[in-house]
Amino acid sequence: MSIEYVPHFIPPDTRSEPALWFAFQRSQMLVCRGDDDSPVVPCCRDLGEHGLDPLRTHYLGTYDGRHCYTVELHESAPAPAGWGLVGLREVFAQVEGTLAAISGRAFQIIDWDRNHQFCSRCGTQTVQRENERARVCPSCKRVTYPPISPAVMILVTRGREVLLARKASFAPGRYSALAGFVEPGEMLEDTVVRETREEVGVEIRNIRYFGSQSWPFPHSLMVAFTAEYAGGDVTPDGVEIEEARWFDASAMPALPPSISISRRLIDTVSRRLAAGEPAYAS
Ligand SMILES: [Zn+2]
Repeated sequence: MSIEYVPHFIPPDTRSEPALWFAFQRSQMLVCRGDDDSPVVPCCRDLGEHGLDPLRTHYLGTYDGRHCYTVELHESAPAPAGWGLVGLREVFAQVEGTLAAISGRAFQIIDWDRNHQFCSRCGTQTVQRENERARVCPSCKRVTYPPISPAVMILVTRGREVLLARKASFAPGRYSALAGFVEPGEMLEDTVVRETREEVGVEIRNIRYFGSQSWPFPHSLMVAFTAEYAGGDVTPDGVEIEEARWFDASAMPALPPSISISRRLIDTVSRRLAAGEPAYAS
């Protein structure tokens, strides 16, 4: 059974029990080290016990009954002896799934708070709202919330083949599903059709929802779909996509790391196709 996380934004009145601290210095997260040297989220009553004086603090709710906080550390604050600062991707790869998700949430909230201390419309210093996670401008009343940028991921299938593409920035030999950000005014299905057409010149049909994943690099929500090939020659756009081609379901190339939904999408669908099943769960 997975350990329950209960989100909330109003902190408890007092802090008598040890809490979990998701502390960030820019995009690096403060961790202690477990017995096997893996990163561990610090658990203590107050970071002041370890000589740290956070710039700002947000309450995140409870994980396994423990209160959780996200804080921003001074840029020059050294990590306590034996602790370290690691990238969020390392946290994602090495800590339990729910804790990784809270780490991503923590980073996005503290990053938003740091970047919205002043109103983007009139320049006045903003203040935290008491009844919701928002900052408001006392002058022009503009309200800002932590931003989330939706993006789609598309795995196009043709018989027992899947269409994978690679960007020039990928590691040599690595391929992934198609992906792109949602534009203003679009429904997710519109983005799926447009991105597939733009990136590889292919038409699709039978678009099916696969799953979603919060992706805090820096604040995306990935929404994954499968779709069936309906026509057109695979023609990489040469800008975003360097190369794209069909792969048999039983002969996958190098793929993205397992922490990403793209990997889960490709693994799940290729396994289904190789077993002679439909790409989507019926
Ligand atoms: Zn303003």
